[in-house]
Amino acid sequence: MKQEKILVTGGAGFIGGNFIHNFIRTNPDYHIFNLDLLTYAGELQKHRHLENDRNYTFIQMDITNFDAITELFQREKFDYVIHFAAETHVDRAIINSETFIKTNVLGTQNLLEASKEIGVKKFVHISTDEVYGDLAYDSTEKFSEISPVQPNNTYSASKASADLIVQAYYKTYGLPMNIVRFSNNYGPYQFPEKLIPLTIIRLLNDEKVPIYGDGKNIRDWLYVKDASRAVVIVLHKGIPGEIYNVSANNEKRNIDVVRTILQELGKTESSIEYVKDRPGHDRKYVMDSSKIKSLGWRPNTSFEQGIKQTIAWYRENKIWWSPLLKGELNDFFQRHYTNL
Ligand code: NAD
Repeated sequence: MKQEKILVTGGAGFIGGNFIHNFIRTNPDYHIFNLDLLTYAGELQKHRHLENDRNYTFIQMDITNFDAITELFQREKFDYVIHFAAETHVDRAIINSETFIKTNVLGTQNLLEASKEIGVKKFVHISTDEVYGDLAYDSTEKFSEISPVQPNNTYSASKASADLIVQAYYKTYGLPMNIVRFSNNYGPYQFPEKLIPLTIIRLLNDEKVPIYGDGKNIRDWLYVKDASRAVVIVLHKGIPGEIYNVSANNEKRNIDVVRTILQELGKTESSIEYVKDRPGHDRKYVMDSSKIKSLGWRPNTSFEQGIKQTIAWYRENKIWWSPLLKGELNDFFQRHYTNL
């Protein structure tokens, strides 16, 4: 039987990288092409065990390069595309949104156009709960897939724009697609600029941990392995044209997430430094994930298990994260958290 080809974009990043780890082990009938520009957020150490794997190919390429993307698709004739690649850090989008618009909007359009031309069997676009904007703090409402798209920052606006273009390619050209909207992911190999790895690493290094504003903003936490399984289910069972929310009902205030990590690492509240709030900081995201559950997906990992596993992983894998603290990330910290 002919081996099917899956193009995974952004597979050198956090969620795409975990997806490849989990998928390749259990799906020998597919060849995975990992296309990634290797920005500051991408690195290949996490895939060193795949270097000689016959089912894996790495391609360094920029999704905003239309000619290169078109040529690649015409040559390889991918069966499926799973599109993770993006600029993802809200704080960076607030400082300068240009690359966010280029990569997240134009890059997605390039991939859609190339996919349409070769007739891919399915395009799975990875998106975020942030496209819905935020909920009133005391509300019991949850976002469903038909909630209005009302993003509040330039990262979520770029993701929402991409979502609309993906939907337009389905409606106008019939390109089979699904959109997966994740809540906040956490787990191994997350770049240490995001809340959970930042907190763990700074505490392991006996440094202060920054918390925005009053720390009461609520996020819904999803373990990255559960997120990867949701993508596989959507790839195989998602109804073309449909959007699927994916979250695990782990709604937590940022301060409580940090307190859990402090406790696990035997630290006290004196390690916390409250910093000036992020402009336009969304107070609360909560999604209803009953639609993906109707396809058979369930989260397997409780927050209590997931956070313990994540802390243990960062403790044991300093060799992965310590080189990332130098250079670009260090400069970003210096510029951003001036009072730490
Ligand atoms: P990440 O920042 O860890 O990784 C992004 C990857 O995309 C990197 O490897 C980077 O090199 C690559 N990339 C960036 N620009 C590129 C370009 N122009 N061409 C090719 N590759 C490029 O991101 P992540 O946290 O793994 O997020 C993956 C996807 O999931 C994104 O689309 C993001 O919007 C979405 N998402 C993430 C979360 C989360 O909590 N991390 C939550 C909801 C949705």
